[in-house]
Amino acid sequence: MSQTPSETPSEPASEPAGVLPSTPPYPYEAPVSQALFDRASVVTPGGVNSPVRAFRAVGGTPRFMVSGNGPWLTDADGREYVDLVCSWGPMILGHSQPDVIAAVQDAVSRGTSFGTPGEGEVALAEEIVARVGPVQQVRLVSSGTEATMSAIRLARGFTGRPKVIKFAGCYHGHVDALLAAAGSGVATFALPDTPGVTGAQAGDTIVLPYNDLEAVNEAFHRHPGEIACVITEASPGNMGVVPPGPGFNQGLKDACSKNGALFISDEVMTGFRTSRAGWFGIDGVVPDLMTFGKVMGGGFPAAAFGGRADIMGHLAPAGPVYQAGTLSGNPVATAAGLAQLRLLDDAAYATVDAVSAQIQALVTEALSKEGVAHRLQNASNMFSVFFTDRSVRNYEDAKAQESYRFTAFFHSMLAQGVYLPPSSFESWFVSTAHDERAIQRIADALPAAARAAAEATR
Ligand code: PLP
Repeated sequence: MSQTPSETPSEPASEPAGVLPSTPPYPYEAPVSQALFDRASVVTPGGVNSPVRAFRAVGGTPRFMVSGNGPWLTDADGREYVDLVCSWGPMILGHSQPDVIAAVQDAVSRGTSFGTPGEGEVALAEEIVARVGPVQQVRLVSSGTEATMSAIRLARGFTGRPKVIKFAGCYHGHVDALLAAAGSGVATFALPDTPGVTGAQAGDTIVLPYNDLEAVNEAFHRHPGEIACVITEASPGNMGVVPPGPGFNQGLKDACSKNGALFISDEVMTGFRTSRAGWFGIDGVVPDLMTFGKVMGGGFPAAAFGGRADIMGHLAPAGPVYQAGTLSGNPVATAAGLAQLRLLDDAAYATVDAVSAQIQALVTEALSKEGVAHRLQNASNMFSVFFTDRSVRNYEDAKAQESYRFTAFFHSMLAQGVYLPPSSFESWFVSTAHDERAIQRIADALPAAARAAAEATR
């Protein structure tokens, strides 16, 4: 991975704030962001509060954003970018959506946290239950990590079994037992991916290659009566976008049903984004438990897990499996989430899907014109580009791409005012707010970025 983007100039930016050049060389240094990053690096490990924000995969200066409006982000240097990250998914209506902001202001005016039940959390739970058929009951938490961690605990508590199957390349937050992606091809006991996770914590995790039902059935065969659950991203977006093959999710569900295990569909990323009812709304496979986050929080820390009432009834205080949170169901977060969900009607999804299709077509056209081998893969309106000529079905395929081409592509787009996820293993996200002007900015930037990708060398 290149740490020094070839387009980085030695001259400081000379154009007026907010305006970016469309042709190389790109004078796009970010002195204010760099100064903030230097400050941050003194008091925060690596200068960021979540690793991918540090641009380590692509090099260069992470942009410190100061405001967002619709599809636009403005950084500390006063430059404006079309945002194709959307806070990693949540901002499906764009930034500073007026109704969401008004709901937040209204909630804040009445206080920020009570540590008691409140009507807002009931209304948000009702909205989730109404949208997603398999969810009969739901518990609110504050992050996707908490949601998956709690769902796994509940599955173990409910079944009385220890083991969990996950798939290489699927990310479920930084849950100790799920920070293991080792092994592919055959079932392996996972080795922890990070220091700090012990063999004991990851030892009950079985990591299998994605889209490989045979490996799943074999794992059940090898561990009779031991597997509590299979957890999968409903449609993975954390190794780039790699949708489930035909029948894969149903096959997981069937294997779980046959073997007395629970099927957990992680919809933290896809939930309320890929359709009204998330990925469930697309493939209709009925999980036992589901996890949500991102869109349902409207840009605030709100997440959830839910599913069959007989399973959820095992949670404290109704049942013996403990789970809790000081800020769970926070009134400001639930107000934001509810306001956002209520605006997400069929017309809104049609808009996001159309915007996404338009941008996908532009990206493919530009890369094809420059003869860059690539696969653009999508799951509804989520999509990503792999720099390879082969279809990507699992993590091994994803890792085989020419990531150095993405680095050049990314920096060219950034220089021209388009903010992409700073890694080739991430989904791109769009919103209802991506209008003609935003799409034109992308279209204008793509030819040079595609050329940069074509010319990139390892
Ligand atoms: N599950 C999936 C599918 C995710 O994409 C993520 C985060 O990106 C998580 C869980 C963890 O969510 P959070 O970052 O809110 O802890």
